[in-house]
Amino acid sequence: MIRHNQRRRPSPASGNGQPDAHYLDGPVAIIGAGIGGLTAALSLQHFGVPVRVFEQSKAFREVGAGVTITPNAMNVLNFLGVGSALAEQAGETLRYFVRSAVDGRELERGPDPDSFVTEFGAPYCNIHRADVHSALADAVRRNDPDAILLDHRFDYLEQDDDKIVAHFSNRTAFEAPALIGADGGASAVRNVVFGGQQASYTGHVALRALVPFTRVPRAIIEDPYVLYVGAGRSLIHYPLRRQTTMNLLGNTQAAQWQAEGWAIPATVKEFLGLFDDFPEPVQELIAAIPAPDLFKWGLRDREPLEVWTRGRVAMLGDAAHPMTPYLGQGACMAIEDGMILGRAFAASQDLGEAFSRYEAARRDRANAVQLASRYQGTQHHGSTASGPSTGKTAATLGLFSYDPVTEPV
Ligand SMILES: Cc1cc2nc3c(=O)[nH]c(=O)nc-3n(C[C@H](O)[C@H](O)[C@H](O)COP(=O)(O)OP(=O)(O)OC[C@H]3O[C@@H](n4cnc5c(N)ncnc54)[C@H](O)[C@@H]3O)c2cc1C
Repeated sequence: MIRHNQRRRPSPASGNGQPDAHYLDGPVAIIGAGIGGLTAALSLQHFGVPVRVFEQSKAFREVGAGVTITPNAMNVLNFLGVGSALAEQAGETLRYFVRSAVDGRELERGPDPDSFVTEFGAPYCNIHRADVHSALADAVRRNDPDAILLDHRFDYLEQDDDKIVAHFSNRTAFEAPALIGADGGASAVRNVVFGGQQASYTGHVALRALVPFTRVPRAIIEDPYVLYVGAGRSLIHYPLRRQTTMNLLGNTQAAQWQAEGWAIPATVKEFLGLFDDFPEPVQELIAAIPAPDLFKWGLRDREPLEVWTRGRVAMLGDAAHPMTPYLGQGACMAIEDGMILGRAFAASQDLGEAFSRYEAARRDRANAVQLASRYQGTQHHGSTASGPSTGKTAATLGLFSYDPVTEPV
């Protein structure tokens, strides 16, 4: 179990304010407006640090998929002022069950959902990704309407003792006292600053879909939050948006798969073919997916990054620790990183100290969760002699008892 923190919580502030990181000459540049980059932006703003977030996309369009935001990350969203509205949008949290893909037999049941707030100070929520993303982006823009710049694809950077200059493929450049690489699993910032290994295909493919509740089979509505583990495959479904949409994620293995991205279409026939020995209600749920709402993604991974900061650059979220989805913690770790980054800036006298505090607080935990996620995939898919198993879930590993709002920084 990872330690449970009982420190007193600082009081949340409304908007900008709190300790001023006076040693910074100008806004901090954040590359990537995903869940990690936006949480970092909001946290830095909260502690009085101005930011500029550079996003390659021309418009925000988070994918249609669910994301589990567990108490460790919900504590952050609550502190930053966006948690309660998101929990309200998500609706009631249900208890999860882990079942065998062979016969649907119960292998494990999750904790009582009501216990999360009592035990960890925040709920466990299943939220539509677009809802998390827009809540964060709106809050960042409320603090500073100019904080997010779309259509800025990071290309390369130069840094010296005083500053960093980030260059974008639209031929613009931005000078900043520090830069945060939050540009996801295939991070260009990581490639430029740290070099080394590129993100490589894991041999695992995720298929994801949203199914309106009106199309969901009755047996699934009666047993709505389930993870099935089976030979070489796993599948999870849970409701979103107050039980109006069912999120469905199937994970399988395929040696030849290469592409990644949330927008590669898949077919119901393909999905069914891969899961044709799963319990009948699951197959009915797959068959009910509206044709244009099914996509696949070849999962990427990298070895844990031993050093997270170099000069005036620090890495955050998937750019630092891309992880397979088997613990449902990638976005949660990115949110934790973002919160701690702001607190580290606020607690420090100079940038070097801020980055040291940030890396010291985050590296071991996030890197450990990255490796545990990889291992959990082998447990779910039964690559071990004992066959498919529940392994150790995020709850079993004690991951929820880390509170980024009060952890020592
Ligand atoms: C199938 C699947 C299911 C998952 N389920 C869960 C879950 O239930 N719970 C959970 O906690 N996590 C989950 N995750 C993990 C989670 O999605 C990621 O860990 C999380 O999105 C990481 O956020 P991020 O901001 O670090 O990166 P990203 O979300 O990848 O955001 C990076 C941003 O940077 C931008 N960008 C990239 N390159 C550049 C560039 N050169 N210049 C400018 N901008 C750039 C991108 O457009 C993007 O907006 C899942 C992942 C997968 C694949």
